[in-house]
Amino acid sequence: MSRTITILGATGSVGASTLDLVRRNPDVFRVIALTANNSAAELAALAREFGAEIAVVADEASLPELRAALYGSGIAAAGGEAAVIEAGARGADITMAAIVGCAGLAPTMAAIECGKVVALANKEALVSAGEVMTAAVARTGATLLPVDSEHNAIFQCLAGNDPAHVHAITLTASGGPFREWEMERLHRATPAEAVKHPTWSMGAKISVDSATMMNKGLEFIEAYHLFPVGVEKLRIVLHPQSIVHSMVEYCDGSTLAQLGPSDMRVPIASALAWPARMDTPCAPLDLAAIGSLSFFKPDEERFPATRVAREAVIAGGAAPAVLNAANEIAVAAFLAGQIGFTRIVSCAESVLARGLPKPPASLDEVIAVDREARIRARETMECVP
Ligand code: NDP
Repeated sequence: MSRTITILGATGSVGASTLDLVRRNPDVFRVIALTANNSAAELAALAREFGAEIAVVADEASLPELRAALYGSGIAAAGGEAAVIEAGARGADITMAAIVGCAGLAPTMAAIECGKVVALANKEALVSAGEVMTAAVARTGATLLPVDSEHNAIFQCLAGNDPAHVHAITLTASGGPFREWEMERLHRATPAEAVKHPTWSMGAKISVDSATMMNKGLEFIEAYHLFPVGVEKLRIVLHPQSIVHSMVEYCDGSTLAQLGPSDMRVPIASALAWPARMDTPCAPLDLAAIGSLSFFKPDEERFPATRVAREAVIAGGAAPAVLNAANEIAVAAFLAGQIGFTRIVSCAESVLARGLPKPPASLDEVIAVDREARIRARETMECVP
């Protein structure tokens, strides 16, 4: 029996990996909606290939190009943020939430409101909306499946076990391209160097987050919400080979880990087929060829992002949303050549230090906190270039 699927962020890295699996399983999935920001031509080609019902660009200015590219196909075209939210609300059996940044929050929440399966790659949405999103999941009966490789690994390691017996959850981190760089060199790191991830091929924003270690900070907050074992039981360990994707330690001394190739199609397949399994084209691990796996303690002097994220999750309320928004603005400024690499995290920390709004209790309030924090982040960067 085929399952319907909507992909929010179809033209991105996670979108492409998801569509690769859909392409290999034409009898299993039927595409409802595909969305992008402004990659209209690429989106139209995907919509035609997969016979989508509708293609949506968030950027309204790209709608004429999308319409022209879909002319004669019978596929509907739509544009604007509201149209992306409507795509999420279409109630596909599975919605892949793979928009980058807090821009994906409202469409992801719309999908959650349908009470079906939401495969979550868009970590910024959960980091920002935290309790608001998990409450919506509980209220609607939606199933939120983690796609981030670490959280997908933890999800698999927790299966069939009582969370009360969890002693610790350890997120692994590759350490990014600058893992061994001295502070002096980090100040001079360029966008081209930052997006060259050693083990994963990903979009620009998450690649920079990996280089600053903010990606692991955001994942720490994501894990806090997905696996409510308490912040004191969450750990991070560096593991440059990215083979062990994360692990769960139990009270009896057993540690369960999930291992696999550094290919997002593995965790995506796990989410798409859940609770069953599906084939992927990824070669199984050859542990003898890999030889050895190494693990190190993170250095929060050179990479303070994980400390800042941990403090934000402990502060609670609006802090994670403020941190995420400030980080998004700072990463965009770094990629545009406006600020140095080490300013990204210090900017986010400065915005947090300026005080917090009241804890957001609804989607609208989360969006308001996000918007205000973006303004503050731009002001902060102007004050301290
Ligand atoms: P990409 O930058 O490759 O793709 C982002 C997607 O979101 C594109 O389809 C893009 O459209 C769309 N988009 C961008 N801005 C907006 C907007 N304002 N409104 C609507 N759509 C928008 O990102 P990734 O695929 O790398 O990452 C997606 C999410 O998944 C992120 O949250 C990331 O942290 C997470 N993730 C990614 C992993 C990876 O391996 N890449 C691994 C684990 C998690 P367009 O093409 O038109 O710009």
